[in-house]
This record gives sequence, structure tokens and C-alpha cells, in this order.
Amino acid sequence: MPYVPPVTIQSNTMIEAPVPIANVCVLCDSARIKRLHVSTKGEVFRCRNCTVVFFRSRVDTSALYDSAYFTNNYAAIQEAQRAKAERYIATIQQFQATGSLMDYGCGSGVFLAAAEAAGFTNSVGVDISDAALELTRRNVGPHVRLINTLSEDIGEQKFDVISLIDSAAHVPNFRVTLELLIERHLKPGGVLFVRTPNINRWYLTYVKFLSCVLPSEYIDEFYFLPKRYLLFNSRAIRDLFQKYRFTILHSAAESDYQRTISATSLKAQLRGLLMRRIPRWINPRNSLVVVAQSPQ
Ligand SMILES: [Zn+2]
Repeated sequence: MPYVPPVTIQSNTMIEAPVPIANVCVLCDSARIKRLHVSTKGEVFRCRNCTVVFFRSRVDTSALYDSAYFTNNYAAIQEAQRAKAERYIATIQQFQATGSLMDYGCGSGVFLAAAEAAGFTNSVGVDISDAALELTRRNVGPHVRLINTLSEDIGEQKFDVISLIDSAAHVPNFRVTLELLIERHLKPGGVLFVRTPNINRWYLTYVKFLSCVLPSEYIDEFYFLPKRYLLFNSRAIRDLFQKYRFTILHSAAESDYQRTISATSLKAQLRGLLMRRIPRWINPRNSLVVVAQSPQ
């Protein structure tokens, strides 16, 4: 089935360049890719070389991040987010005690607020979503610069730290964006902090099994379509950083936020079992945290 690129691309989007359509891995250019899933939303591939799982979307995802998205996904876990943000800042400060910080995909602004409280200054928050920037403004105050894309007028301002908390997977052309961040906005010797979902082989085998027994449209959710473009694992992210000659300073796989399952109907309980409980059991450390340093 030929790839059809997204038809509409909004101006206020995190898309920094068109999504490539070549039949190679979006991160390492290897032609050794295997298609795992096809749906009306697009196609999912796994790279046999760097092991990343990636999604070629047929839909424009930029309009998905409205205020309801943040209310539904993050309001209930804001306290947990705050505690994690403080812990992540402490991890960063082991390598970069203070300085300027850009948070790419700043969401509700919890991380930026924690960074400011810990002494980081001249912070910039970037987010595709105006709803996110509004929430961030409430959390950090008026002095922090907030923008929708890197093309806005921050010129070539360079930062001591760039963070991507749960945003890397959602960027349509992550490699181009990462290169922009590294080349234009990270100081030599600067620190890149990434937190992103971690997908192991057991989980992929589980979804492969489900795809034999469930209709294709149900499988979309197991690959997190259409929101996530990249599903990393520790090897894929290590290979990516090595490509840019970064030094990995810290790497850990941990459990994501625990969300309460309040299912009343049998269908909702089954959904909770298939989508949350079993994945937690077979892929318990479902979140990767990596701190890497750019070459001096
Ligand atoms: Zn690859």
C-alpha cells in the first residue's frame, strides 16, 4: 500500500519538516525494516538495525492536543508529575547544576516550573498546543518565553539543557527536530534530557498475538496510534545518541505513572486488562530516562 502523506498541516504545529516517505528507518536509514501493522491511520514498522518502532501517519495529528487532551491525560496525575519533575531536575543537576533550559513539548509546564524553582533561568517552553502553553503560563508566570515551534524568533539562542519529557514520541519528524535542537540550540557540552516510553520485545510479541485475534482497528491503540510516531527501547535511543557523538551520562528504565482503572462494565474491565494490566506485567519498566551530553 503506497504511503500517503498528511493532507493538512496547521501553522501552529511542532512539525519542523515534512515526514520522509522513503522505505528506510526514520532514525538510522537502514532498509532492514519490517511492517508490523497497517490501518486507516497509517503503517507501523520495526527497524531490524536500530530496533526502533516507527509510525508513518496518514493523518494530521497536530489538532489532537487541545485542552481536553491535557485535562483527560494529565489533570489526575499532576502531583505525581510534580514529584517526578523534581527528581528529574535533581538528576540533571548532577551534571549541569544550573543555567538556561529549553523544554521541548512543555505540556502543562510542570517540569519548567520545577526547573525554575531549582535555579534554572532564561527558560523557554515549546509546545505545538496553545492549550498547553496556556497551562504552562499559569504554572511558570509571565517571564518564561513560550513558543509553538522552533521557527519562531528565538534565533540561534543556545541552552545549557534541553529537555524532552514525553514529547519525543509525538514529534512527526523527530530526527529533523532533534538535529535542529542539537545544532542550533544546544551549547557544546550541553545536556539533553529525554523521557520517553520504553517498549520491549515481549510487548511487541503480545501485540502480534492480539493482531491475530482482534480486528485491525483495535490494534491501533496498542501501537498508540495516531499520537506516537516513535517507540524507543534502550538500545534504539543509545544508538541514536551515539550517532550524534553524545556521551550517555545516565540511563534508566522505570515504571510510568500508575493510573487508576475504574471500570464498571465487563467490556471496560476487559479493555483495562488487555491495555493496562497485561502490558504492565510483561513490560513493567515502560519508561526510559536518558541524560546525554553533546560533544564539547
Ligand atoms: Zn533504524
